[in-house]
Amino acid sequence: MTNEGALNSLLLLFFPQRAKKKKENFVFAVSEISSSTAMPSLPQKPGDAPDAKSSRVGLPALDVATAFPQATPASIFPPSVSDYYQLDDLLSSEEKNIRKKVREIMEKEFAPIMAEYWEKAEFPFHVIPTLAALSVAGGTIKGYGCPGLSITGSAIATAEIARVDASCSTFILVHSSLGMLTIALCGSELQKQKYLPSLAQLTTIACWALTEPDYGSDASSLRTTATKVEGGWLLDGQKRWIGNSTFADILIIFARNTSTNQINGYIVKKDAPGLKATKIENKIGLRMVQNGDILLKKVFVPDEDRLPGVNSFQDTSKVLAVSRVMVAWQPIGIAMGVYDMCHRYLQERKQFSAPLAAFQLNQEKLVRMLGNIQAMLLVGWRLCKLYESGKMTPGQASMGKAWISLKARETVSLGRELMGGNGILADFLVAKAFCDLEPIYTYEGTYDINSLVTGREITGIASFKPAILSKASRL
Ligand SMILES: Cc1cc2nc3c(=O)[nH]c(=O)nc-3n(C[C@H](O)[C@H](O)[C@H](O)COP(=O)(O)OP(=O)(O)OC[C@H]3O[C@@H](n4cnc5c(N)ncnc54)[C@H](O)[C@@H]3O)c2cc1C
Repeated sequence: MTNEGALNSLLLLFFPQRAKKKKENFVFAVSEISSSTAMPSLPQKPGDAPDAKSSRVGLPALDVATAFPQATPASIFPPSVSDYYQLDDLLSSEEKNIRKKVREIMEKEFAPIMAEYWEKAEFPFHVIPTLAALSVAGGTIKGYGCPGLSITGSAIATAEIARVDASCSTFILVHSSLGMLTIALCGSELQKQKYLPSLAQLTTIACWALTEPDYGSDASSLRTTATKVEGGWLLDGQKRWIGNSTFADILIIFARNTSTNQINGYIVKKDAPGLKATKIENKIGLRMVQNGDILLKKVFVPDEDRLPGVNSFQDTSKVLAVSRVMVAWQPIGIAMGVYDMCHRYLQERKQFSAPLAAFQLNQEKLVRMLGNIQAMLLVGWRLCKLYESGKMTPGQASMGKAWISLKARETVSLGRELMGGNGILADFLVAKAFCDLEPIYTYEGTYDINSLVTGREITGIASFKPAILSKASRL
C-alpha cells in the first residue's frame, strides 16, 4: 500500500463519517489529521507560558467506571467460575474453608486497591494485618504458632491470593515458603522458637537470598563468602532480585563457607552493620513486590544465627521442592482470575450489537482458557498428593512448575486478546496478570532450568552445562 493509501485507510478507521461523505484528497487528509486530532500543545521551550489547550495536561484520569461504563472493572472482583470440573470435590472440608475465607478477603479488601499500588510500584503495608488474619503464613509448618495446613490447603490459599493479586501471593510465598520454611527445615530448635512465631503473625517479615548478579540459573556457583571469625561469621558479597528485602526484618542469606567451599545459610538482621538493600526499580511485573539488590560488606553474623541444616547446596533443594509446588499454584490462581474477569467482561461488553461472548472465535478462546485451567488444577493437585504421600521427586515438582507456568502464559495471553484495549489496563486485571506471570515463569528456576531438572531425572543425564564445557572439565 502507498503512504497515501495507508493514510486514507487510517482516516477511514478514525473518521468514518467524514471519509464516507467525501473522498477527500491526500492534502486535505493530512490537514484534517493535524487540525482535529492535534495533541494539546506543549510550551515550545523552557519558560514559555502554556497556551489555553495545555491546561488539559496533567488532569487526573477519569475514573474507569465513568470512562468505560459498559463493563465492571476488577476493583469489583468477578465471581469465581473457573472450577468447571468441580475440583472442590477433591478437597477436604478444611481446604474448602480456607479457599472460601481467602477468596472472600482477597476480593473484598485487596481487589479495590491493587491496580493503584501496582501502578505506584509500592507495597500496601497497611494490609499486612489483613493478610495475617488469613492464617496462611507458615503454611504446612506445624507448631511455633504456624497454621500446620495440608500442602493442598496451603496451595489453594496461594492460588486464591494470586487470583486477585499475584504480588501479594509472591510477598507471602517469599516470606513463608522460602524464609519460614528454611528455618523450619534447616534451623535449630532455638531458632525455630525464636523466629517462627512472629513470622507466622506477620509482625516480622522474612526474605530469602540465593540469587546473585552473576549467578541466577547457576545459583549453586554463588560467590558470596562466609568466613569464620571468633563468635560468628563475616559475610561478604552481593545478592540480586531478593523479594521483600528492602524492608524484611530477617534475611536468609546463602554464602560459601571459605573453609569448606560449601554453601551455608545464615539469618541476618535488617540493621546489621555492613548490610544494604536497595529497591530494583522499573519492573514490568509483580510491581508491588519490593525486590532488592543486597550488598554485604563484612556483615557479622553470630554463631547462633547460622542455620545448622544448610551444609551444601543440596540442602536448599528440600526447601525448593516444597516452594516449587507452591509457586506452581500461583499461575493457576492468576489464570483463574483472568478467566473469571474475561467471562464477565465478554457478557457485559457489546460490539456489533451483540455481547462479545456471542462470537464463536471468542468462545473458542474462553474454552481453551478453561480447559487449560482444569488441566493445571489437576496437575497441581496431584503434585500436592505426591508430596503428602512422600513420593514426590524434584523432577516432578520442576515439571509441574514449568508446565503449569507455560500453560498459564498461553491462558493469560488469550485473556489479554479477549479484552481488546482494556486488556492492557491494570484496572481490568488481565494486563496486570499478564505482566505478573512473566517473572513467575522465570523465578524459582526458569521454565528451561526446571525442564532440565526433570530431563536429568528421566534420562539420568545432566545437560545444564554446554557440551563443550562439560568436555573441557573432563580433560
Ligand atoms: C520478580 C523476581 C523475584 C525474584 N525473587 C527472588 C528471591 O526472592 N530470592 C532469590 O534468591 N532469587 C529471586 N529471583 C531470582 C530468580 O530466581 C532468577 O531470576 C532466576 O533463577 C533466573 O536467573 P537469571 O534472572 O539470572 O537468568 P539467567 O540465569 O541469566 O538466564 C537467562 C536465560 O537463559 C536460560 N538459561 C540459563 N542457563 C541455562 C541452561 N543451562 N540451559 C538452558 N537455558 C539456560 C534461562 O532459562 C533464561 O531463559 C527473583 C527474580 C525475579 C524476576
